[in-house]
Amino acid sequence: MFNCAMVSGIVFARNSPREYCTKSARVVITIVLRARVFRAENGSWSGAASARRLLMPARETEAIILKTFPLGEADRLVSFLGRSSGRVRGVAAGARLLKNRYGSTLEVLSHVRIWYVEKETRELVRIQQAELLESFHKAQSDYGLSTGLAVISEISERILPENEVSEPMFRLILLTTREVERTGDWKLPLSYFAFWTVRLGGWLPRFDRCAACGMPFGPKPAFYNAHQAGLFCEKCRRSGMKPLHLEARNLAERFANERLDRIEFEMSMQPGSRELREAGLTWIERHLERRLMTRELLETT
Ligand SMILES: [Zn+2]
Repeated sequence: MFNCAMVSGIVFARNSPREYCTKSARVVITIVLRARVFRAENGSWSGAASARRLLMPARETEAIILKTFPLGEADRLVSFLGRSSGRVRGVAAGARLLKNRYGSTLEVLSHVRIWYVEKETRELVRIQQAELLESFHKAQSDYGLSTGLAVISEISERILPENEVSEPMFRLILLTTREVERTGDWKLPLSYFAFWTVRLGGWLPRFDRCAACGMPFGPKPAFYNAHQAGLFCEKCRRSGMKPLHLEARNLAERFANERLDRIEFEMSMQPGSRELREAGLTWIERHLERRLMTRELLETT
């Protein structure tokens, strides 16, 4: 039998008619359980503000970990892209302790399910739990591959607005990371990622004709730099512009129409893939109005 007096100090049950009390028994029990958990975690519990926070339900979402930073001696600040929440930042308490309950779930670009609680007055959410859905251990533990992942992580972290759901970017990051893990190479996946990020962002220039004079490029190279939007022909190019040859533009055409995991890498694709990746990263930097910190690491891997 449920006893109303048991919770009378915590919730609205005091002075309620017996009938109402019985009906709301389940709700009250849930609140009591939450109160106990909270007490256990925090040691003490009092005040109306705490009570309000207690009642905020935990949210659950499939997510990709974008970045983590140490916070204090024991905690970690975590930025993640939730499939149903968009980019969110939160605190994972105790995640830096040797025996912590997060294990490898908070590695960069891990695919996880995450539970968190939002706080009305704070920007950061409180992460309660994370469960690994898919491991990218090979890529995360290899220096070269993890450099590729770091570039994807930095771009996503900087480009995605907070709390805005982005299903195409979620799928793109996941597909790219899976391919880095599966193929053991970051080069083609990163070219694909950079191309699609620019395309989804709406900053992709025309690939068939000059942005200044409108002349079709045909088989000739096109040119770009970090300061102008668009691709330019040989006549309109300015000094210091880099070339984007026909092979790179043809690869872009393939990227636009084929999924990354269906494109088989051949050595002959290497130069075009590199040019397209460089152009994509340059356009991303142009949009961000800053250099990507991880980009120069790619040169050394
Ligand atoms: Zn021109």
